[in-house]
Amino acid sequence: MTDRPRRRDILKAAAGGAALAAPLGAPWGAFAQEAAGAALSAEQLPGGLIAVRGAGGAVVAGAEADGLVLVDGGAKEHSVALLEYLARETGQDRVKTLFNTHWHLEQTGSNETVGAAGGNIVAHENTRLWLSHDFHLWWQNRDYQARPAEALPTETIYDHGTAPFGGGQIEFGYMLQSHTDGDIYVRFPEANVIASGGVGVSDTWPVIDWGTGGWIGGVLDGLAVLIEASDDETLIVPAHGPTIRKADLVEQHEMYTTITARLAELMRKSYGFADVLAAEPTAEFNDRWGDPEQFITLAYRSIWGHIRNDRRVSTI
Ligand SMILES: [Zn+2]
Repeated sequence: MTDRPRRRDILKAAAGGAALAAPLGAPWGAFAQEAAGAALSAEQLPGGLIAVRGAGGAVVAGAEADGLVLVDGGAKEHSVALLEYLARETGQDRVKTLFNTHWHLEQTGSNETVGAAGGNIVAHENTRLWLSHDFHLWWQNRDYQARPAEALPTETIYDHGTAPFGGGQIEFGYMLQSHTDGDIYVRFPEANVIASGGVGVSDTWPVIDWGTGGWIGGVLDGLAVLIEASDDETLIVPAHGPTIRKADLVEQHEMYTTITARLAELMRKSYGFADVLAAEPTAEFNDRWGDPEQFITLAYRSIWGHIRNDRRVSTI
């Protein structure tokens, strides 16, 4: 929330009168983590790239003579400030290519502006489908409307693709059904930087958005894809949290493997949500990653669609 506010933080914010992006009626109603109005900041990365934070989700940017390449565009309410900030930081105000790592509003809030100005928008085909239809996201109890034509991806992939950048090639690829069913990473080989979107989140538990195809086993798959694409020097910029390295991805993969096995065992015992929370399947990790209630609930629910087709969680 910003990909996921913790519930108690939402309640705290509400009590303090802070403006909220989403209604409080639903549990964990919003996807956003940074407070509205948070200052934008830039982390300098190799190869002249920058990671901008404070726009709802991390934005990785690189400038060429004919325009900017952006990985994600922040949330709509931050878009004007983000694009002005990028122009000041890079000296380039035209966005020629915008990657959407997934459909969430914290990643796609600049699509209308970039698309209307003639920029290319690149995403997984499933991301284009979510953006182009009305749907109800059950775990948020929230309706999402189809985005206007200019906000839709102009180029989609199923597996992987490349694009010219800086005299070399940007590589981008599918991370399977991890955070949603349309997550892609974008790799800048010369800089040895990867923008990883909703996978590899490094400051709190990830959102398992099972309503649009994410699931806990897919988080393992997505992390495995990132680990394969990284070496020990690679800098990985997730949508939320600080820049991390391959060793952090490996640590996350080990942790989620442990948790997935525990959740699968509880599923085999037909535990309900209250009993699963009481069983504390993340107990030794909570000091590092925070209140696990939302994560456990979404992760457990996410298994339901896979108990017949994935040996990691099979109950038969
Ligand atoms: Zn997300």
